Amino acid sequence: MAYESGISEDDERAILDAIEKWLEKDVRPHVMDMEHADEYPHAMVEQMKEFGLFGATISPDYGGLGLSAKTYSRIVTKIAETWMSLSGIFNSHLMMAMIVEKFGTDFQKEYWLPKFVSGEVRGGLALTEADAGTDLQAIRTRADRDGDDYVINGTKTWISNGIEGGAVALMVKTDSDIEPRYKGISMLIAPKVDPETGAPHEGFQTGKKLEKLGYKGIDSAELIFDNYRLDAKRHLIGGEEGKGFFMAVGGLELGRINIAARSVGIARRALNESVRYAQERKTFGKPIAQHQAIQLKLGEMGARTRAAELLTEDAARAYDAGERCDMEAGMAKYFASEAAVANALEAMRIHGGYGYSKEYPIERLYREAPLMCIGEGTNEMQRIIIAKQLVERNKV
Ligand SMILES: Cc1cc2nc3c(=O)[nH]c(=O)nc-3n(C[C@H](O)[C@H](O)[C@H](O)COP(=O)(O)OP(=O)(O)OC[C@H]3O[C@@H](n4cnc5c(N)ncnc54)[C@H](O)[C@@H]3O)c2cc1C
Repeated sequence: MAYESGISEDDERAILDAIEKWLEKDVRPHVMDMEHADEYPHAMVEQMKEFGLFGATISPDYGGLGLSAKTYSRIVTKIAETWMSLSGIFNSHLMMAMIVEKFGTDFQKEYWLPKFVSGEVRGGLALTEADAGTDLQAIRTRADRDGDDYVINGTKTWISNGIEGGAVALMVKTDSDIEPRYKGISMLIAPKVDPETGAPHEGFQTGKKLEKLGYKGIDSAELIFDNYRLDAKRHLIGGEEGKGFFMAVGGLELGRINIAARSVGIARRALNESVRYAQERKTFGKPIAQHQAIQLKLGEMGARTRAAELLTEDAARAYDAGERCDMEAGMAKYFASEAAVANALEAMRIHGGYGYSKEYPIERLYREAPLMCIGEGTNEMQRIIIAKQLVERNKV
């Protein structure tokens, strides 16, 4: 059977097998140390470039693998099961690429996408500001037209790949007065270095690396734009002002499927570690897996993991079929991220004191999981989106 992207099940299996071998040989032995040192995985990024992961969902027309959301989300789950931070390095990058591929001019697609595929230019999405997260229309970063150029001023925060990456899809206000506010929002591709000349853009400054509870290794940073100048032809995505809000929102479905896939990875790892540990650890003369209190936990964790997986596959299938899937992606993201949080906590209880130890992976899962409830639209917003769609699709 061929998926919509033309990848057969055999090809998908071959990709997943190759990734599994890489994780086993080059990733698992280093995760604990790199996580606790909060060290950026440079060598792994080079290996991800060789796999073509930076072009995973980009069309073969531009040199990418053109994978379906279904295959892509299985890759993301596998990687997140090992170290969720790694998936963030290419996921945010592919969100930026998707905006260029979906909305960019032909010139921009031909210019930027091959550079994204090779990993020559890597990056992410720069939407959030100190006073604008969920309410993205409240952003204040401005891009003022000056001849053929834009002059950009403002500060973004929490930007994944902000330090190690070379570019971001940057959400700006091109009209601060217009109502409704979304009409004044545009999207730019913002590189740190001019790819033509290799000269750094002076006005693009990287702030400090932000300290976080989890999601270690990958950099999250403030980005400061101070009279940063870009020409409109190469950088205003789609060549038209006022479309940036829809570009960001249009990318969120794939973004939510990807967070759901990461969450399934965390939930599954917590489950697998617990099933194994419960058979090894003995109290009162028998493995704790034989105590009913532990069995109840394992039963719930298993059912939650499978349900999260199926919701994620369902959303990916709808996305690949080109169907409207905001509700499906919202359900998958909401349910899977809550499953990750619940499983990580239950895994900690099952592991007792060892769950709290930095020598076991459980405390990392416990720190990683809550981010899944926040990123790509908080879970409060997901439930509101789901409810609105339920009413919309079932009007009386
Ligand atoms: C590790 C990390 C990495 C990140 N990476 C990126 C990145 O790469 N790029 C990027 O642009 N951003 C990134 N973010 C930012 C992230 O997208 C925002 O934190 C998120 O959108 C929430 O915004 P906020 O933090 O401003 O919370 P707020 O919007 O202030 O929300 C606070 C609370 O109020 C609730 N709330 C808000 N409005 C409503 C409403 N209308 N109805 C009901 N409840 C509501 C929220 O659900 C939440 O519970 C990252 C954040 C973190 C922590």
